[in-house]
Amino acid sequence: AAFPAGTLAPPPTPHLFSDPAEIGSLRGNLLAWYDRCKRDLPWRTLAATEPDADRRAYAVWVSEIMLQQTQVATVIDYYNRWMQKWPTLQALAQASLEEVNELWAGLGYYSRGKRLQEAAKKVVSELAGQMPRTAEDLQKLLPGVGRYTAGAIASISYGQATGVVDGNVIRVLCRLRCIGADSNSPAVIDQLWDMANALVDRSRPGDFNQALMELGATVCTPKAPLCGECPVKQHCRAWRRKLFGKSTPVPDVEDCGVGSCPLCPPPTEPWDSSLGVTNFPRKAAKKQPRVERTATCVLERKGCHGALEYLIVQRPSSGLLAGLWEFPSLLLAQDLQEEKQREVLADHLRAWTGWPVAAGGLQFIGEVVHIFSHIHQTYVVYSLHLDGDVTLDPTLFPSRWVTEEEFHASAVSTAMKKVL
Ligand code: SF4
Repeated sequence: AAFPAGTLAPPPTPHLFSDPAEIGSLRGNLLAWYDRCKRDLPWRTLAATEPDADRRAYAVWVSEIMLQQTQVATVIDYYNRWMQKWPTLQALAQASLEEVNELWAGLGYYSRGKRLQEAAKKVVSELAGQMPRTAEDLQKLLPGVGRYTAGAIASISYGQATGVVDGNVIRVLCRLRCIGADSNSPAVIDQLWDMANALVDRSRPGDFNQALMELGATVCTPKAPLCGECPVKQHCRAWRRKLFGKSTPVPDVEDCGVGSCPLCPPPTEPWDSSLGVTNFPRKAAKKQPRVERTATCVLERKGCHGALEYLIVQRPSSGLLAGLWEFPSLLLAQDLQEEKQREVLADHLRAWTGWPVAAGGLQFIGEVVHIFSHIHQTYVVYSLHLDGDVTLDPTLFPSRWVTEEEFHASAVSTAMKKVL
């Protein structure tokens, strides 16, 4: 078929939902399952019971930002504490960044908290405290709110019939429709958004979106999906393909074209029957994380009440772990011998504290490995006990002495807690 110049051919039908009856049945099955099996989560309760639209949108927004790259079980406690401390946008807009970092400590990807607070300030100062009312405006007007978060807030808080695509949805849709092309590629992502928008239930969009994500999180999981319990298995082409295999002449479970279909697996990576439905989705090989080593020194002294105190310093206000506190640390050059490591760290501490820190006085404690999203970080941990009163030049960088209890209540990263 010929298509107008500048437009792409629609994808082959095996990868689409084109039958309205099937779409209706999938919506019904998924929502019925969700009503039966959904997890009881604090943001769901707020979204269902809060009568004020701005408060509702704020409650969903906070949950969505916290849930990015973080497990539900971890988020619940943080979410409850956050909503108790800042139940409204207005309250959050008045918080300090230090308070936000303290509450966020341990949740990871720290810029999320900072951006949330900046965006709340913007809503209060520039939008008269009113949250934008559509996905389009949320994305356009709120810093840090991308297409997914905007769609989630608008569908869950306002009932706008707009779809969402996150990691869970990508997995479910790729399996439902045997999409085996690189699921991170813009062409595939665009297709999935179109599909999510077409599928979303018109009368219960928020529940439908949450149901699709919940299905991905609890049933259609990455490695061991529970297809036997899946409420939409009769719509799932990956499952049918697993049952019937490729050689069986079931038309809609065949690849749709040899090498030419933009949504099929590449010809070099055909269906692997040992993988079953987990053939989908496929991702291009991930970039290897950068490998770094950082020397860090736990400086301790006896405080005036006899308890040990530790020196922590604040990181710069931009970049990785912006504004968080840590033990004095120094990124090490590659392949530095242990002896040399100790020397550069001692030099660094001398310059900082003005104390005659000798390399031999640093006690090697051990190594701590922490994986950030794109960095494989090894902290080489030393400790040093100081006997006198050390005062650091406050104009150099913020620093303070803290007890162990104060350390845990400070805005410190999970990596630093491991170091301690
Ligand atoms: Fe996922 Fe299996 Fe359900 Fe298909 S049948 S959507 S692969 S859990």
